[in-house]
Amino acid sequence: MAIKTKEEYFESLKKQKPEAYMLGERVDQIVGNPQFDVQLNLTSLTYAAAHDPETKELARIKSSFIDEEVNLWAHIPQSPEDLIRRARLHRKLSAEKVCLLRCMFVDPASALLVSTYEMDKKLGTNYYKNVVNFVKRVQKEDLMVGGAVTDVRGDRSVGPMEQEDPDLYVHVVERRDDGIVVSGAKANITGAVACNELIVVPCRALRREEKDYAVAFVIPVDTKGIKYILRPTAAPREPREIDHPVSRKIGHIESMAIFENVFVPWDRVFMCGETAFSGLMVGTFASTHRCSKCACTAGHMDMFVGAAALMAQYNGVERAPHIREMLTEMIMNGEIGYHAAIASAVEGSYHPAGVWVPNFLAANVGKYMSCHTVGEQYVMLQDISGGIAVTAPTERDWKNPELRKYMEKFLRGKKGVKTENRLKAIKLIEDMTASEYAGWYIGLCINAAGSPQAERVEIERTYDLKKAIAIAKKWADIED
Ligand SMILES: Cc1cc2nc3c(=O)[nH]c(=O)nc-3n(C[C@H](O)[C@H](O)[C@H](O)COP(=O)(O)OP(=O)(O)OC[C@H]3O[C@@H](n4cnc5c(N)ncnc54)[C@H](O)[C@@H]3O)c2cc1C
Repeated sequence: MAIKTKEEYFESLKKQKPEAYMLGERVDQIVGNPQFDVQLNLTSLTYAAAHDPETKELARIKSSFIDEEVNLWAHIPQSPEDLIRRARLHRKLSAEKVCLLRCMFVDPASALLVSTYEMDKKLGTNYYKNVVNFVKRVQKEDLMVGGAVTDVRGDRSVGPMEQEDPDLYVHVVERRDDGIVVSGAKANITGAVACNELIVVPCRALRREEKDYAVAFVIPVDTKGIKYILRPTAAPREPREIDHPVSRKIGHIESMAIFENVFVPWDRVFMCGETAFSGLMVGTFASTHRCSKCACTAGHMDMFVGAAALMAQYNGVERAPHIREMLTEMIMNGEIGYHAAIASAVEGSYHPAGVWVPNFLAANVGKYMSCHTVGEQYVMLQDISGGIAVTAPTERDWKNPELRKYMEKFLRGKKGVKTENRLKAIKLIEDMTASEYAGWYIGLCINAAGSPQAERVEIERTYDLKKAIAIAKKWADIED
């Protein structure tokens, strides 16, 4: 069974018993628990897409790892076409559900294949086969995998060994014949309990003496010793039909994952002490993940552009020159990311570990530019919509017949537009730009897949500045 249905994915979650806490209390059940509905509505999308006649063809692909058809989100890209196909589907599905999470398998797994291949070649270690076996298992069982990269890190100005507490980075506390034991904590882990397994990798390049912190592995989410402190989604606490049209449908449960003496068998370990390869591992993951982020952000921007154009139509201002100008700006902000994803696919390269690796410069520029402008999208969407986007009465008022007659009369827009539809558009924009969800979303854009500074550093590292200076000298007729 290589391609699961949404129902089979839910069944797999029902068999797991992670130690999870939310709002101060132990959570016993994920599937069927209303607090997790919007999370599962979102994470089940890639399973549904592989069976939906509209997306099925794009969402299935033959894997050379198991020689079977697999879900595209379990597929390691082998060519620019594979990455382009993923970018197309990513944009389409992200416009519907925002963050699919499943790039948290493909992107770290690609980085693990590349870095363990290089490590085994240089150091004679034997990790690559563990990654290949892991990839095969994910493909055969169509597993949902989360990524635990970001250590909690305490004082950012110093490394793991200078922290007051060694547990501020995940590290090895014991090496045994049958495996390793790790402790520490990872922050900001998206959708962890909606996953089957968690990939754990270091979040930075490490120095030679930081051996215990150079540790990478994969484990089932309910492994003994892992505790999750979960942050709920922004979903409204009571059922709604008009208010919060985004956050009542989708959202991620974020978490802090605490590792207390967690045992990991050797066949699940991908790095243990090889500090020299930590930079390659985390760097390849970060840039590969930014390529994914370019495509999904473009999907979100389609949502922003659509909401702005709809509201402009309902308000009768769609032909106004400044509104059209803003819409064009909004379109450009989204397209930059998408086309950077395509460029990074086309300009990528094949690594003998069995991965088509995207071009890092294009991926970093695209992620930086598309996410950097998300604040502008908020401003323009609010500007186009007018103040009503944050001041309109609520669904409850609309449902009170006494008040509804006033709302019908005074909330109307352009002739021919139903007031209820205008109210729905207003509530969409409110949820997208001025709600608890909107705050989470902007945080997702800024920091998920790495901080803007991490992208600047990678852009500076990969751009050929010497070549650019040589061009300038040639123009200026400077010879030295
Ligand atoms: C919604 C969301 C979802 C996420 N999902 C995941 C996930 O699933 N898995 C995962 O592993 N991570 C995830 N992340 C984490 C994300 O990768 C990190 O937030 C990101 O890498 C930034 O790290 P940080 O949050 O620790 O910020 P910091 O690194 O603390 O950055 C804060 C500021 O401090 C600066 N700074 C940091 N260190 C230094 C230094 N040494 N010197 C000078 N300046 C410094 C930074 O440049 C930045 O300006 C998610 C984040 C968000 C917001």
